[in-house]
Amino acid sequence: MDLAELVGLRPVPCGGLLVALTRRCPMSCAHCSTGSSLSVSEEPDPEHLLRFVGSFGAEDRPDVVMMTGGEPLLLPDLVTRLAGLAQTAGSRVALLSGMFFARDGRFPDRIMRAVTALDHFSASMDVHHEREVPRGDVLRALRAVLDAGIPVSVHLTGTGPDDPYLADAVADVRRTFGARVPMLVNEVRPLGRAAGLVRATPPGPDGSLVSPCTLAAWPVVAFDGTVAACCNQWTVDRRPVPPHLRLGHIADDDWPTVRERSLGSPVLRMLRAVGPRRMHARYASSPAPAGYCRSCHALGDRPDVLAGAAREAGGRVGELLDQLSTEQQLAAGPAALVRRMGCARYAHLVESDAVHEPLPAGEGSGR
Ligand code: SF4
Repeated sequence: MDLAELVGLRPVPCGGLLVALTRRCPMSCAHCSTGSSLSVSEEPDPEHLLRFVGSFGAEDRPDVVMMTGGEPLLLPDLVTRLAGLAQTAGSRVALLSGMFFARDGRFPDRIMRAVTALDHFSASMDVHHEREVPRGDVLRALRAVLDAGIPVSVHLTGTGPDDPYLADAVADVRRTFGARVPMLVNEVRPLGRAAGLVRATPPGPDGSLVSPCTLAAWPVVAFDGTVAACCNQWTVDRRPVPPHLRLGHIADDDWPTVRERSLGSPVLRMLRAVGPRRMHARYASSPAPAGYCRSCHALGDRPDVLAGAAREAGGRVGELLDQLSTEQQLAAGPAALVRRMGCARYAHLVESDAVHEPLPAGEGSGR
């Protein structure tokens, strides 16, 4: 599975499942939005997780499961077991790692076993990570993954399109791998690593309030086993999760139940199709709070808006609205999605022409 396909699935409601495997992380990056470190032990119960993924059916499963953290490769055996279970049902499995294990050119066997159980492996790189794991070590580890036959991508984060770090890192990855390793380039924002693909869409240039929320498409298993409807870190960490954004808990619910709640919710259908501001403008009797996600969280206290959504999106029309919005985003393609939600200057790098371009000789240049 390549990065373009993975990103391309992002607007599909329940086309993917994000799993935050652990909040623990051996790195201590200043910008970490999940507040991860080795001293926080929060993680979903592994047995609950295995049961939840085991509830996928051949006809009722996400196309892709993406494991994140914290650092998911702190649990390599669990990664291997979850990947096997998901793949048995027909799902593909991807994982995003901060590459802590690659220091000094290491690639421990248990981690390699977990990585080679995947359908796609992504390395997260930014200026903070590089202070802890040199770029050369990361690129050497990525070459080993490619040599093992697993498609690879790099997720880069910088301060904006003119960040010299981004230009330098992109050039280095290109020099090392040619176009064989696609890149997803994001700008620092107050969202978790898993949300790198999915910044909420800003209003259109005309100030239009219609601004679909792609974040509301894939359910997220949070560190305590709660299943949230979106991967905005503010939602994932908030307790209680606002009722319209809570899909269940892996201790009590299975995938078909969570999927049915997500696809059938009139509020989520409207969020995915037109976004929260348009919902307030259409149904609310008083102004919405400032801020895209703040106005979404406030929906729980707006019975007028909830009733309006239920009236108009509760039936077949709401289902069609959801489908139409998904189809429009799918037709635009993965690069358009990244232009809208990531760093537009580098959006084209999400595509790979791996099939046609041989891997250049030599290792990463390092820093
Ligand atoms: S608008 Fe709502 S569903 Fe979308 S990212 Fe914000 S909080 Fe999540």
